[in-house]
Amino acid sequence: MERESGWKGKSKEAIGEVFAFCEGYKRFLDSAKTEREAAAFIERSLLDNGFVEAPSAPKVCRVNKGKEVIAFRKGRRDLSQGMRVIIAHIDAPRLDLKQNPLYEEIDLALLRTHYYGGIKKYQWLAMPLAIHGVVAKADGSIVTLTLGEDESDPVFSIDDLLPHLSRKHQDEKKLSEAIEGEKLTILFGSLPLLGEEKDPVKKGVLHLLGERYGLSEEDFVSAEIEIVPAFKARDVGIDRSMVGAYGQDDRASAYPLLRAITDLEKEPSWPVLAVFADKEEIGSEGNTGAQSHFVQIFVEDVLEALGVADSGRVMRRALFRSKGVSADVNGAINPTFQEMHEKQNACYLGGGICVTKFTGHMGKVGANDAHAEYVAEIRQLLAKEEVIWQTGELGKIDEGGGGTVAKFLAQYGMDIIDMGAPLLTMHSPFEISSKLDIFESYRAFKAFFSA
Ligand code: MN
Ligand code: MN
Repeated sequence: MERESGWKGKSKEAIGEVFAFCEGYKRFLDSAKTEREAAAFIERSLLDNGFVEAPSAPKVCRVNKGKEVIAFRKGRRDLSQGMRVIIAHIDAPRLDLKQNPLYEEIDLALLRTHYYGGIKKYQWLAMPLAIHGVVAKADGSIVTLTLGEDESDPVFSIDDLLPHLSRKHQDEKKLSEAIEGEKLTILFGSLPLLGEEKDPVKKGVLHLLGERYGLSEEDFVSAEIEIVPAFKARDVGIDRSMVGAYGQDDRASAYPLLRAITDLEKEPSWPVLAVFADKEEIGSEGNTGAQSHFVQIFVEDVLEALGVADSGRVMRRALFRSKGVSADVNGAINPTFQEMHEKQNACYLGGGICVTKFTGHMGKVGANDAHAEYVAEIRQLLAKEEVIWQTGELGKIDEGGGGTVAKFLAQYGMDIIDMGAPLLTMHSPFEISSKLDIFESYRAFKAFFSA
């Protein structure tokens, strides 16, 4: 197959349209750095676009524990015949605060973290970090924290060893061992509380947390506080053709998916379902992850609202007859580590949305592996709508690999395939996407919903 840049031959107007779409994408990235923030943003946008909670309505949305969202549109066909389902995820690799995080050493207050998802630990040192999260207090009240995003906010940081002293403890070690997980501690404060002898700095920050937010040290036990990069999404490149930001895996799919379902002008032929799931980065576990029964319960509720008898049985048939897209990013071929990819089957930044027949590792282990017939259907659809697309595998066969949620929806019996934008420096605090691939993801998802 011939390969060429998706930008090739694009007029100034066409490029302008792509860029304009990505202005909205960047706003989403900035206001949705955690799964809770993404869920809130998505819910707000759905409500603004006429989606309601009542399962009998033509446009329905539902939020699961503030971390997962479903959007549904009725189609001209009966729901029992199946749906067009796209699932993306809204969690991203990050650092979580431990449940007893605060301590003081050498007159500094520090917070212990436990990382979430696949990170390269060294990438999180020596840069401005923000704190986002919720504290659920014992009295039932919720305190929301966002610190480090406003220009006037303080930021936080993880200390690194200076090069003068790092020879033995870092430089001569393997990269994966140079920074231990327990060393990812957040610098939190240094002012002692007046009149205190023991742990005066720790008491100082606790005093501040009490005064400002009504929090005590024990409240961290029932908190979910996430440490994320403090910087905002930015254009990358002199020509502004790329986006650099935290959390593009998988908000690079979530935002195009949100826009695809809200922008559908008329009632679609098939009923459509968009799922914005949590916990993909740690295996889709938990009751907000793709392995939970949220989708089934939702579909059953819609069927019941339609007055369908034996809704459980019909729900299982509907899911079995559905067709799906697991919307997730892929690793674009890296310009300076090209040897890590098998270039004939890798995806390229700016080459359009990447269709991935199978994921998995070491011989397709853990893969869904879409059937040839289904891949052909997708090919035909993308060609008809003139979507710019490419195929891709995640890296060379025995270099590693990865998996995503396709296999969990495949359990219902539906055909499903992976699709999404290629990213450079995936899972890093500053991932890079091509604006073209984000826009083509939107066009592909909309085409899939409209078919
Ligand atoms: Mn992903
Ligand atoms: Mn990922």
